[in-house]
Amino acid sequence: MPGGNGFMRLLNPGPVTLTERVRRAMLRPDLCHREPEFSELLGDIRSRLARVYPEAADQYTAVVLAGSGTAAVEAMVGSLVPRGGKALVVANGVYGERIASILETQGKPLEMIRSAWTEPIDLDAAAAALDRDPTITHVAAVHHETTTGRLNDVAALGRLCRERGVGLLLDAVSSFGGERVDPEAWNLEACAATANKCLHGVPGLAFVLVRRDVLESGTSAAPGLYLDLFRHYAAQSAGHPVFTPAVHAAYALAEALAELDESGGWHARRAHYRRLSGRLRAGLVSQGFRLLLGDAAVYSASLTSFDLPEGVDFDALHARMKRSGFVIYPGQQALCGSIFRVAVMGALTAEDIEEFLKVT
Ligand SMILES: *Cc1c(COP(=O)(O)O)cnc(C)c1O
Repeated sequence: MPGGNGFMRLLNPGPVTLTERVRRAMLRPDLCHREPEFSELLGDIRSRLARVYPEAADQYTAVVLAGSGTAAVEAMVGSLVPRGGKALVVANGVYGERIASILETQGKPLEMIRSAWTEPIDLDAAAAALDRDPTITHVAAVHHETTTGRLNDVAALGRLCRERGVGLLLDAVSSFGGERVDPEAWNLEACAATANKCLHGVPGLAFVLVRRDVLESGTSAAPGLYLDLFRHYAAQSAGHPVFTPAVHAAYALAEALAELDESGGWHARRAHYRRLSGRLRAGLVSQGFRLLLGDAAVYSASLTSFDLPEGVDFDALHARMKRSGFVIYPGQQALCGSIFRVAVMGALTAEDIEEFLKVT
């Protein structure tokens, strides 16, 4: 029978296969976002988001936005990198390079340290740039670079930021809720994420976790109106969203966050992902597939990239897997046609992985 949920099992890195509990949450009564019931729902989501990493709960606040993960990243760098400031973007994949494109579009000064997509972020070059250029106000980077599945060494990058008093802006879109985030040690000013990856909600809502003092006492550098975090923060703190939110996605996110909490929080989720990915990697490697990054230890818990074997076409592999009830994910841009990616986010079980390995 294809699909533990009766349909498809999504092995792409979000949107994820939903639990029935989260899916049903969207059937709750229609709700006007100006009613007290929505204020309560939004308050619940914001406080749950700030408590996913309990050590962040005191100093950070969550600002919820309608949109996908990119909206949150754009709101974060747009609102927080001052017009007269400068961002150092440390990139090794599509999403790091996207941060640089966003800043460029916004007309904000930036320097990019770009590594090959199969390489780690270049920490030496980042340190040298920070030491050379005192006008750099922020470092921006990606935690889990979904392009390849590499979990970047943000602990080391954060240390560089902390030593120099430069704020770190982190794209944690594909890691939030499924990997360790250490706000204090990383000198984290903000991180951006989405409802529909490791948190197991539905697409439609994204959010930025921001140091509260920055929003309380700073000034907005937002180049536009809709993605101005300061404006959203002021309204949400007063109980209401500024613009029409994705109400049903909010029901789903609140439920998904409750489910995360009840199942043991991010530690348990990461452990679950590790078990599934460990089995998946061992199984595919024993079938002759090769890890793109060579070493299983450099990957995140939730995603693995494999070289497409000689003579195997992604579309054909994808179509075959889909007939068995699984959706796998291609490479992006330069890696399109040479790799495939398998994520274990969402309502997937060890049995799903065993079944997947039988049909590859
Ligand atoms: C998914 C993802 C994004 C955002 O993509 P959207 O399609 O806008 O949700 C940003 N950064 C990373 C690292 C991602 O994995």
